[in-house]
Amino acid sequence: MYREPYNFTLERYIEPSRFAAIKEFTQDMPTPLLVMDLNLVERKYDELSGNFPSADIFYAVKANPMPEILRMLHEKGSSFDIASRYELDLMLSLGVAPEKLSFGNTIKKKSDIAYFYDRGVRLFATDSETDLLNIAAAAPQAKVLFRILTEGTGADWPLSRKFGAHADIIYNLILQARDLGLEPYGLSFHVGSQQRDIGQWDDAIARCKYLYDAVAEDGIELQMLNMGGGFPASYVDPTFSVEEYAKEIIRFVEEDFGDNMPQIILEPGRSLVADAGIIVSEVINISRKAKTNMYQWVFIDIGKFGGLIETIDESIKFPIYFEGEGMADEIILAGPTCDSMDILYENFKYHMPENTQPGDRVYIFTTGAYTRSYSSICFNGFPPLHAVIFDKGENL
Ligand SMILES: *Cc1c(COP(=O)(O)O)cnc(C)c1O
Repeated sequence: MYREPYNFTLERYIEPSRFAAIKEFTQDMPTPLLVMDLNLVERKYDELSGNFPSADIFYAVKANPMPEILRMLHEKGSSFDIASRYELDLMLSLGVAPEKLSFGNTIKKKSDIAYFYDRGVRLFATDSETDLLNIAAAAPQAKVLFRILTEGTGADWPLSRKFGAHADIIYNLILQARDLGLEPYGLSFHVGSQQRDIGQWDDAIARCKYLYDAVAEDGIELQMLNMGGGFPASYVDPTFSVEEYAKEIIRFVEEDFGDNMPQIILEPGRSLVADAGIIVSEVINISRKAKTNMYQWVFIDIGKFGGLIETIDESIKFPIYFEGEGMADEIILAGPTCDSMDILYENFKYHMPENTQPGDRVYIFTTGAYTRSYSSICFNGFPPLHAVIFDKGENL
């Protein structure tokens, strides 16, 4: 497949004055390092909630659980989607009320359900009978969201297959939930993370509408439609704007539901935090494996195990900025650990200015989501990715 050559322009990813301030802020800090610009997260939250005025936002905590981010979102009125008792403890320790939390993970132990219920959480997602029976036993009368299966087609990081069930299974689960004394509350789906095909929401919403109508015939009125995450961040491959996503998705819901609009919730993870993160890294070595090899190998101090696991299959292409001048060579980019799968990009060719030297800094943009929370604890002894908050506000 032909691709445009990779051409990095700084302005596409950050205002130059903001970048200058972040460079100065980090110049004496050891690398690798993740810098999170709190103001940019806030802007993303405002953008999403502004474009979906009637939706409630449940931030998917797993994308980046730094307390400063959670606290800021909490102050702005966000709710939170959490997936484990550890995330629950974290949220409660920050003073977030259990009414603001949903247990969105369909894979959970009965003891975890009881742990959530004891601490006041009443909203649970499910996609199987075993889990539903556990919810009925450990969280009596709780509100339940039923997750439908989506294919994840069009997503750079599909989450499908593992979660959700077909409409025929979900239909029976909804009736069963009522009979178990639970409150069948709504439907949920996730079209896949970094979903670049807006039409995927159309399909999923239509499937939900079908189920809404089917269970209504049995006297069950569902109230909530949880449209998950999947909203875009700015990587190398282009996407539509959040405004365009919102316009289309709202139109899909209105076309299907008409005057009978459900309460809508969104669970953004990536789209709120990714663009606000920059990983500062350093070139360790530049080498050629044979005189006749076209491409130089460039080793930097962060790789798959240090937080860039989403480079698996080159799924997510992070914008990468090398300072330096001169002709830009196509390179193979790899991480620092002693595992040969720790190669970041080999097929997709990044460019590096020819005067780049070991010791130079490299800036990896759009790394605020799924980096630190994914980094390994001590492979080869490397510590988990260190992160700092940059909080200079709007005035840059
Ligand atoms: C991970 C996850 C999200 C966040 O998805 P993004 O694509 O990062 O926005 C939302 N909902 C659920 C249930 C998830 O597991």
